Amino acid sequence: MTGGSEHHKEAIAALAEREYSRSGDEYTRAAWRRLADPRDDLGPFDSDEKGWVGRGVQSLVTAALAYRVAGDTARATRRAVQGVAIARDLGTTADHPAQSACFTEFVGDLRAAAGLDGVTDAYQSAEQAYREAGDSIDSPQTWGTTPLFEAASGTIKQLARGPANGEIAVKWEDLHGADPGSPGDFLAARGVYKRQRFASLVDTAVSDGYLAAPRGTTEYDNSNHRCPQCGSNDVNWAGGNVLCMRCSTPAERRWVSADRYGRSISSTRIRTFWTTEHAFPARSRYLSVHFLNGRAVSMDDINTWVVLQEAILIPTSGNLGSRTGQG
Ligand SMILES: [Zn+2]
Repeated sequence: MTGGSEHHKEAIAALAEREYSRSGDEYTRAAWRRLADPRDDLGPFDSDEKGWVGRGVQSLVTAALAYRVAGDTARATRRAVQGVAIARDLGTTADHPAQSACFTEFVGDLRAAAGLDGVTDAYQSAEQAYREAGDSIDSPQTWGTTPLFEAASGTIKQLARGPANGEIAVKWEDLHGADPGSPGDFLAARGVYKRQRFASLVDTAVSDGYLAAPRGTTEYDNSNHRCPQCGSNDVNWAGGNVLCMRCSTPAERRWVSADRYGRSISSTRIRTFWTTEHAFPARSRYLSVHFLNGRAVSMDDINTWVVLQEAILIPTSGNLGSRTGQG
């Protein structure tokens, strides 16, 4: 396993809970682990054409952002200063000048995330470094899809989801030039774009008090989940979390609305269900389940309505060995 994945998961879960200070802490811990051990058997100073260590620097960028959104400017600054020192150091030990330029691009991200000055200078330095590296770059698209470059484009994509209703607001074409035959300019376009957009996206996130989760695997109109906040059925599986694609709130598992024969179950009709043991304190038994506002509720042992988390739908006269519904 890549170092820091648990902390990365927690960092995203904290974003979903709108606990930005805690998210900053978890992104920081993910960063430190990822920097120390980018991959199994791969150290941060080893020769690595993929540049896995960039994911550690990315986590510092996101940590600084989360602290900014939390209103903790001092910690954001310290995280960015730390990140700048690390990115500069890694830039000097990178295998290829294109990678060194990418670490300079990170310096711009870190400064922009924390609201420090020198953002424009950092991006312009990166652009110049890409252009100077141009002659040594065969395929700029190949470099652009390595983990290092994807790490350096990840945070601006995440940031841009907030004001874009969770959609992809920064595309590959936005960040890269039109002509791969001109490799230096192709990659320098990253700096140009970020110079124009990164800081203003940060300002929007800070003034909205909202940082969206990164976009993972998404599905539109998923029938099993629903957002308790905005009601959307569009789901984003991000870093081990199941979130609303629109507003990054944890998605709730939705109840089946039809039985195994496709008959719909109205919100007022009582059906018989068998709950799973972990979802309901009473062990396997038949319960009357009532659908209320999209939730399934039932009476517990002291006659109180409780919301059921999960159940397996079995027709009362059906075969108990054949489990249906949403498990
Ligand atoms: Zn939502």
